[in-house]
Amino acid sequence: MSENESRLESIRAITNRSPMSLSSTEPLNTIWACDVFNFATMEESLSKNAFKAIKKTVQTGEPLDKATADVVAAAMKEWAIAKNVKFFSHIFYPLTNATAEKHDGFIITNSEGNAITEFTGSLLIKGEPDGSSFPNGSIRMTNAARGYTAWDPSSPVYIMHTENGSTLMIPSVFMSWTGESLDKKIPLLRSNDAMNKAGKRVLSLMGETNIAPLDSSCGAEQEYFLVDSHFANCRPDLLLAGRTLFGKAPEKGQEFDDHYFGSIPKRVQVYMQDVEDQLYRLGIPAKTHHNEVAPGQFEIAPYFEAANVASDHQQLLMTILKMTAKKHGFLCLLHEKPFAGINGSGKHVNWSVGNSTQGNLLDPGKTPHENLNFLLFCGAVIRGVHKFGPLLRSAIASAGNDHRLGANEAPPAILSVYLGEQLEKVFKDIKEGKLIACKENGEMDLGLSQILNFERDPGDRNRTSPFAFTGNRFEFRAVGSEQSVSGPLIVMNTILADSLNWVADTLKISLETEEDKSSAVISVLQELMNKHGNVIFGGDGYSSEWHTMAVEERGLKNIPKTADALPVLQEASVKKLFESTGVLSSVELMSRYEVYSEQYILALEVEAKLVIEMAKTIIYPAVVTYLTELSMLSSNLSGKSITFDDSVSSTIAQEAGAMMSAVNTLSHEITRNDFDSTNEQMQFFANDICDLMEEVRMHADNLEGEIADKYWPLPKYREMLFIK
Ligand code: ADP
Ligand code: MG
Repeated sequence: MSENESRLESIRAITNRSPMSLSSTEPLNTIWACDVFNFATMEESLSKNAFKAIKKTVQTGEPLDKATADVVAAAMKEWAIAKNVKFFSHIFYPLTNATAEKHDGFIITNSEGNAITEFTGSLLIKGEPDGSSFPNGSIRMTNAARGYTAWDPSSPVYIMHTENGSTLMIPSVFMSWTGESLDKKIPLLRSNDAMNKAGKRVLSLMGETNIAPLDSSCGAEQEYFLVDSHFANCRPDLLLAGRTLFGKAPEKGQEFDDHYFGSIPKRVQVYMQDVEDQLYRLGIPAKTHHNEVAPGQFEIAPYFEAANVASDHQQLLMTILKMTAKKHGFLCLLHEKPFAGINGSGKHVNWSVGNSTQGNLLDPGKTPHENLNFLLFCGAVIRGVHKFGPLLRSAIASAGNDHRLGANEAPPAILSVYLGEQLEKVFKDIKEGKLIACKENGEMDLGLSQILNFERDPGDRNRTSPFAFTGNRFEFRAVGSEQSVSGPLIVMNTILADSLNWVADTLKISLETEEDKSSAVISVLQELMNKHGNVIFGGDGYSSEWHTMAVEERGLKNIPKTADALPVLQEASVKKLFESTGVLSSVELMSRYEVYSEQYILALEVEAKLVIEMAKTIIYPAVVTYLTELSMLSSNLSGKSITFDDSVSSTIAQEAGAMMSAVNTLSHEITRNDFDSTNEQMQFFANDICDLMEEVRMHADNLEGEIADKYWPLPKYREMLFIK
């Protein structure tokens, strides 16, 4: 079958298909968390003492002792085997955005050759996946490759069912034999711990005596596209790069806003329900789903959870979205920009910090005392984003996300903070010494409770800000749809820890000099606002005026490209931040810079090679076929009374020539390897290679508008986006 025939065949197949229906729709209370070995399951299957020990481990984050590990492992095995599970796997999160697993059987044979099952505590807390092929920067020499995985007891084990059997999955940390973190989980746990310690310092200075451990929370909204797999299979770019490298914009795109929150296509509804049933079984609280702005684009958002668990769940959610799509005849695209000219996909990371005694510290609260705690924590976030904006930008840097940031659909690549009108005024008044405190019942009342509660109105939202306060949390909106949420969470927790430590140091002095607590807090915040208030911005983040003002007047950085964002990880201030908070050693930090840069270059290299291959072997041949037909027609007509307009053929010939000439330059440039540094190589890819890819694409897209439809070999935008 020639290429264009497979395209037409796809359209027929999709038109004639009937949607799948779900085989089972069990009630929520029967399936909810039924495949999770959670506290409830543990309480049933463990002795009182063992249960108490494991619960304490989870709540305090202390390591699991060998004896408890043995007992827990035995109970886990019994539970899993009763559910027909034969394998177990440590699941971990290497420095790519991926999830990794290595499966082992429970089975071993004894000296008589009989099969018995075994799963001890040491298998639970130390697996050895080797893992020499995971990118790890230069932490480990491959010849010394020994990576270890160990269960993170704060993330419960669960059973993953596939058509090929069921596996007990153990969420794990991944470290080198020398104890360095090779993953995204260890630094996330460490950053949470650093934030906890610093937060406690502030709270105890504020006179709190009973302070439970502080934890960060995360609720991530995930956007994605669905494309029918018949189409996807005819598009090597979608299959290998996750985005279209060619494709002319359709006559109708998203201008009518008729997709957003519209009725969900039936086939997609069935898919979503299938996804959600699986998520419920795994105890993942999927809560909202709807159509997104672009045609073919959707969103799913679970209810928020502790950041560490939410992050594991987010990875699992992405896996399930992709796996289930296959079953329903779709390809699920998590790429940040699958289609040019149409909205891309992001992941809004909603984040807050709190504990069981003081509650959510990013909630203004109802009492004057709660208001003060809130202002200090909120102020600490403002300081963090101002001091480390470029670092936050680097935490969301990827080849894919570069297509979104700064385009008119996603926040700009300038990190600013949106507070909402009311709260912005409060901070401005503090800065200008205009906040009036009155004494009520012996305590200073800043009169904030009323004002701050007003903030909860969700209508008062600025969608153009990358980092927005939304009533009781911050929402980091610039994160890419394909990215792990751990990276941004690590940075948010770490900069907050650093800022809370500054707040604690400053507050301590201020409490000694000022006459009361309220005045001490206000004086800390005034200093903070004088140094960092510039980062607060409530206007239109998309406007060019802001881009100029941010950089020229406010001194904020605009970093549109990954090639400029990743080198931030090499800066001394960033190294100091991670070292002083104990989140990453300088070796660990450098390994991240190396791995992320390598990933960026690799992603663009794959795209460039695909552009060359597709232009040469798919597009050009189709063009030649059509040109041949045109020239045959032209010669058949010559000498007859009908005149033939050759301008179409000459336009096509010209475009094809220009495309192939750009392909040749790209083929030559992509072989370059004489770079002095990784930064130089990244710049070369970000500029020269990306420009050449764009040039090839421009000519190819022009050709798509000229070639007879029946000859065009690749499924078109209008087909992939609108045929369901
Ligand atoms: P919107 O699309 O209006 O931003 P959604 O309801 O789709 O809102 O998503 C909001 C996300 O924020 C959900 O995952 C929700 O659970 C989460 N969230 C709500 N409160 C908090 C909080 N205090 N901390 C972290 N996440 C939160
Ligand atoms: Mg949101």
